Amino acid sequence: MRKKVSVVTGGSRGIGRAICEMLLDEGYTVVFIATNDKKSREFISERGGDLHYYRCDVSDPVAIEETCRRIKDEFGTVSVLVNNAGIQTHVPFLEMSAECWMQTMDINLNSAFYFCRAFAQGMVDNKWGRIINIASMSARRGSNKHVHYCASKAGLVGMTRALSLELARYGVTVNAVCPGIVDTDIVQETLSFKKEIWLGEMHVKRLGQPADVANAVKFLVSDASDWVSGQSLDINGGILTP
Ligand code: NDP
Repeated sequence: MRKKVSVVTGGSRGIGRAICEMLLDEGYTVVFIATNDKKSREFISERGGDLHYYRCDVSDPVAIEETCRRIKDEFGTVSVLVNNAGIQTHVPFLEMSAECWMQTMDINLNSAFYFCRAFAQGMVDNKWGRIINIASMSARRGSNKHVHYCASKAGLVGMTRALSLELARYGVTVNAVCPGIVDTDIVQETLSFKKEIWLGEMHVKRLGQPADVANAVKFLVSDASDWVSGQSLDINGGILTP
């Protein structure tokens, strides 16, 4: 039987890379999207296996459309889509330009719409699919200088709920994961001055690791989660639960 095909955006490093590794372990063909050729090729040579890289800037809808077409031509129907690519800049709201706002929306939220649109029909035709959106605890609470980031992640949670309502009846579940503080590149600047405060708020007194998020995604792609859809799962060491 042909292996199922999965697509992970932002798979070159961090959480996305851990999700790619989990999916390889689960027997999937894994296609990841990123822009950093060096990191992406290093990942492929270190890990090997049925792992494939497509260079695509996910802020560009035309590039996404072309990339998704190439993926479908090469691999056929995509069964699992993980919308993970994301950025976080630190900008006070009173200084925020429209360009800054739009860049965050394009990468963190709009790209998920374009990837879902490209692959959802194939999942519906196959009567099985999994869409996982990597949101954030920032969808649940505000954080300083992150109005754009929080809005984009809350958008993903809303999109997850509504898309589930339309697709789950066809066997395509749609869920989100809302990670807390995970030790990757994206949080290093903030960690340098906020690590102890964050650890103080967590019940589990350690930073998250990319594998913690990948383990949650593992459940959500599995048949064991067949009756779970429209949910946003908090994975954060308890930071949102005083
Ligand atoms: P990293 O900065 O380590 O990884 C970000 C990934 O997104 C990279 O693979 C990067 O690829 C990709 N990416 C960014 N911009 C683009 C773009 N324009 N086009 C294509 N790919 C892009 O961060 P994390 O692994 O931590 O983040 C993964 C997701 O998890 C993000 O959505 C983030 O918001 C979310 N998250 C992270 C948390 C944390 O504490 N780490 C907490 C909550 C949510 P490349 O550089 O190759 O382009």
